[in-house]
Amino acid sequence: MSTRIPATLIPGDGIGPEIVDATLAVLDALGAPFEWDTQIAGLEGVTQAGDPLPPATLDSIRRTRLALKGPLETPSGGGYRSSNVRLREEFQLYANLRPARTIVPGGRFDDIDLVVVRENLEGLYIGHEHYVQIDDDPHAVAMATGINTRAGCRRIVEFAFQHAIATGRRKVTIVHKANIMKALTGIFKETAEQVFEARYKGRIAMETVIVDACAMKLVLDPWQFDVVVTTNLFGDILSDLVAGLVGGLGLAPGANIGADAAIFEAVHGSAPDIAGQGKANPTALLLAAAMMLEHVQRHELALRLRQAIQDTLNVDQVRTGDLRGSASTAAYTRALVARLKG
Ligand code: NAD
Repeated sequence: MSTRIPATLIPGDGIGPEIVDATLAVLDALGAPFEWDTQIAGLEGVTQAGDPLPPATLDSIRRTRLALKGPLETPSGGGYRSSNVRLREEFQLYANLRPARTIVPGGRFDDIDLVVVRENLEGLYIGHEHYVQIDDDPHAVAMATGINTRAGCRRIVEFAFQHAIATGRRKVTIVHKANIMKALTGIFKETAEQVFEARYKGRIAMETVIVDACAMKLVLDPWQFDVVVTTNLFGDILSDLVAGLVGGLGLAPGANIGADAAIFEAVHGSAPDIAGQGKANPTALLLAAAMMLEHVQRHELALRLRQAIQDTLNVDQVRTGDLRGSASTAAYTRALVARLKG
């Protein structure tokens, strides 16, 4: 198929431009169909356009409804609000899909293949936070409000069950903290159980697990899990945990999916500690690109890309430093391109 698919490309901050360049070189060798419209956001947006999410970037995604995004820097504590969170809100990207699959065998855990589905728009991420002053301390008390809606819970749980069935999975684990946050996460557990009873019982297995127990079980016996679905903050934490099971953030891709748009990215951040040194691992972004190819129904290209990554890492043994290798980003990219062209 030769039809070009318009897509927005955001190189991002820190190691973003390095791993995006590597990804473009590999996608080019693969013959991927994307026609890129390059835009800025994050710190680069502030520096170049005085806005961490410039209107031109939003317009581009409104047009293409598809984006590949490098990591965007967010100041901690104060400063501007996360462009990542704003992008999710703007395009109502309610589902964050984070698969964890063993690519490099021989790590602490082998044969891992599970996926965390994180609710992306609600919970404690809505940013309703404030301080209360006591005497002369303006920050004497910090408060946050979390919001989970019945409709939002239903939407993400439906997504998880649909995804699980479409990809031949056997079980969906509902992760919550309804014993303590009885309203905020109780609504999630209750809705998930209702959705299961009404539409999925008999088609796939379901269990409910409290988040702290889930964290322990994921470390003791991760193979018992298949698809894990949970609220925003728990999903953020657990998906980093499962990334650790398969060799770290350098291998963890993510997709943010809504009804009208999808943005693909690496789970990791802008890694300012190694930015500009040519040693970042582009694999997470490459795996995100593979998810993007699947999203546009180019399954064969996604398969070839994944195979080339496996062969480069395991047969050629070309690896970046985070995987205890010595290859630079450029050398790893060259090896991948050689695999695809060979
Ligand atoms: P980080 O993920 O950037 O880095 C954590 C550690 O992992 C660092 O030691 C880093 O060097 C290493 N690392 C990450 N990606 C790597 C790669 N591809 N290859 C090799 N090593 C890699 O997390 P952080 O330092 O907490 O965050 C830095 C910035 O990124 C912050 O501003 C944060 O807000 C932002 N961030 C953005 C996103 C996103 O855009 N989706 C996600 C997480 C963090």
